[in-house]
Amino acid sequence: MTESNSNYVVGVDLGGTKILAGVYDANQNCLGSVKKSTKADRGPKEVVKRIARCIMDAVDECDLKLSQIKGIGIGAPGSVDPDQGIVLFAPNLKWKDFPLAEQLKKRLKVDVFLENDCNVCALGAYHGELKGEPESMVGIFLGTGIGGGLIFNRELHRGFNKTAGEIGHMVIDMHGPICGCGKNGCFEAIAGRASIYRHLHAEVQKGRETVLTTMLGKDLKGMKSGSLKKAMKRRDPLVSETILRAAEATGIAVASLINVINPEVVLLGGGVIEALERDMMPTIIQNAERYAMPGSIEGIQIIASSLGDDAGIYGSAVLAQMMLGCFTAGRTSSGD
Ligand SMILES: [Zn+2]
Repeated sequence: MTESNSNYVVGVDLGGTKILAGVYDANQNCLGSVKKSTKADRGPKEVVKRIARCIMDAVDECDLKLSQIKGIGIGAPGSVDPDQGIVLFAPNLKWKDFPLAEQLKKRLKVDVFLENDCNVCALGAYHGELKGEPESMVGIFLGTGIGGGLIFNRELHRGFNKTAGEIGHMVIDMHGPICGCGKNGCFEAIAGRASIYRHLHAEVQKGRETVLTTMLGKDLKGMKSGSLKKAMKRRDPLVSETILRAAEATGIAVASLINVINPEVVLLGGGVIEALERDMMPTIIQNAERYAMPGSIEGIQIIASSLGDDAGIYGSAVLAQMMLGCFTAGRTSSGD
C-alpha cells in the first residue's frame, strides 16, 4: 500500500507560451498544478530553469518533496526523439536538437520522459476520458496549429520515423493557402487558429466588417478562440463563414482518416474545439459522413474532448507511469 502510494509522477505540458505542470498519484488523480509562462525568447537554458521551477512549485503545492517523485513526463511541441529525450525541431520555441530530458534530469535528479505534445494529449484523452477502452482512436487537436495522435491496438503509434500523427499537414486543398511548413493547402492552413486569424485579418483589410474589429481593433490583435466564440454568439457573418469553412475542412480530414485508418473513436480537442464545440461539431460530423466511403463510418464515434487544458499534463503523467512500469489504471483495472 505504502509502496503504490509513493508512485507520484509529474506531468508537464510545454507550450510556446505557457508551461503547465501537474502532480499525479498512482491512480492518476491530479493533486495540484502550476502554470508559468514559457518565455521562449530567453533561450532553451532559461526555459529549462522555468520548467524545473514550475515542477518544484507544483510538488511543493501538494506538500510533497521532489524525492517522492518517481518520474516526470513531458510533452513538447514539434518533432521529438522520445528514446533520446531530444527536441529535434520546435519552431515555436526556436529549438533545434535540444537535449531537454537530460537537462531537466540534471537539475531535478528525477527520470524524465519526453514525447510530442499531441501524442501525450492523445494518450491523456484515451486513458482519461475513454478509460483505455476503444481498440483504436485518432485524436485531432485544433489550437494555434493542428496536431494529432494515433492509438492503434491500445498503444500510441509512433511510426517508422516516430513522426506519425501529423494530421495538421494532411493536404486537403492542393491549391489552398500556404502553410507554416511551406506547402499549400494543409489542413492546419485552413482550420488552425493562426490560419483563421490570417483569413479574418485579410478580409478585414479588404474592407469587410465584423464585430471582431470593435472587440479587438482593426488588427484583430490578441484574437483568441474565446473572441471567435463571442462573435459566433452575435451571429457575425464573416466569423460564421470562416468557422464553417474550418469545420468543413475538419470534417473532410476526419473522413479521410476514417477511410484510411477506420478507428473506433475520433476525438477532437484543443482550444478551438473547446470554445467552438457547439458551432463546429455538427458541421464536422456532417462532412465526415459526406466524405467517408460508404459503410466505413458506421458505428464510429466522433466526439469532442472534455479534458481541455488537462489532457496534456494528464497524458504526460500517464506516459511517465508507463515508462516506469507503474501504470495501473484504465483497461487493466476495469477490464477484469
Ligand atoms: Zn503544412
